[in-house]
Amino acid sequence: MIQTAVGDVADTIEFVTRIHDAIRQPCRCLGHHLSTDASIGIALAPQDGTDLDQLIKNADLAMYAAKAEGRRTHRFFEPAMDARAKARLTMEQDLRQAMVDGGFEIHYQPLLDLHSNEVTGCEALLRWRHPERGMVSPAEFIPLAEDTGLINELGDWVLQTACAEAATWPHQIRLAVNVSPIQLKNQTLALRIAGALAASGLTPSRLEIEITEAVLIHDDETALAILHQLRAIGVRIALDDFGTGFSSLSYLKRFPFDKIKIDRCFVSDIEVDGSAAIVLAVVNIAAARNMTTTAEGVETEPQREILRKLGCTEMQGYLFSAAKPALEVRRLLGAHREKAQALA
Ligand code: C2E
Ligand code: MG
Ligand code: MG
Repeated sequence: MIQTAVGDVADTIEFVTRIHDAIRQPCRCLGHHLSTDASIGIALAPQDGTDLDQLIKNADLAMYAAKAEGRRTHRFFEPAMDARAKARLTMEQDLRQAMVDGGFEIHYQPLLDLHSNEVTGCEALLRWRHPERGMVSPAEFIPLAEDTGLINELGDWVLQTACAEAATWPHQIRLAVNVSPIQLKNQTLALRIAGALAASGLTPSRLEIEITEAVLIHDDETALAILHQLRAIGVRIALDDFGTGFSSLSYLKRFPFDKIKIDRCFVSDIEVDGSAAIVLAVVNIAAARNMTTTAEGVETEPQREILRKLGCTEMQGYLFSAAKPALEVRRLLGAHREKAQALA
């Protein structure tokens, strides 16, 4: 909508309120009661642009900001929105370039059994070596790869590369790979995972797929079917970051997980507040349903000791080792095995 002769901000808000009121009027249609709503973006001339294209583009960015704020509201355009959109576009182009140039690598973080102190497996964690920015954290680029659909191609590369690497490890060492909810929307995922296993020669029971609760929130039939297919061929399934988000116990009923990974936030303050009681509750629920537990982000000896006493199965964290490049992990696994053999 174009409104001319706008006075001050109050005028504009009054106009937006009238639009919202009109749109929100429920209506009856073929016996149904229909209701609608809207997210509204506002750009003002001349400060936000003097030609129509610029004004529409900026109003559009403001509308996406309104959607991001929970929808059904309005936002005025701000120059920072444009800067963010440009930075995102640049990062998306860089991501596509990195796919072509081989700019990604995988680091592996060991998981340790809390009773035997043996390494039981390693988690594959993706790294992006950016030509100008150096190492970029997956927390920064995975969401963008998800939004752009690039995660499918990237995820396949991670699975193939990590399975090939794990096939060189001692046979009792498992590999854990993170899989995004977006990858689980594609019905061919189980087939592609089976392909990566076959190409590398890795036994399916040595592969563990880590998913987050986001997969289960919408009761997505495709995702559940894929998880069951994977389980049928022997792949293990872990629920990652448990304790963040909704953490509804009903998720544990929706799928028979092999493992629960207890989020780092419970481990970091396990010595000070009620976290120990929560960890114990999760450990007990897991044991009753034949699941193991891994505590994430263990950084200190006292944390490890408490987790061991609480009955947690495994730990992962800087106390033993951060994620390391493939070659270093091969050496670490070799040295660890020799040490264990010498002790035996
Ligand atoms: P995550 O799967 O929960 O991985 C654990 C994260 O905790 C990793 O961060 C790891 O480096 C970090 N961490 C491990 N031990 C400690 C510790 O003792 N202290 C602290 N402060 N942090 C610790 P990273 O590598 O930055 O990965 C972040 C997230 O990005 C991962 O969380 C995972 O959700 C996602 N991610 C990483 N690689 C992939 C991938 O290949 N595919 C997908 N879809 N997601 C990935
Ligand atoms: Mg994980
Ligand atoms: Mg996690």
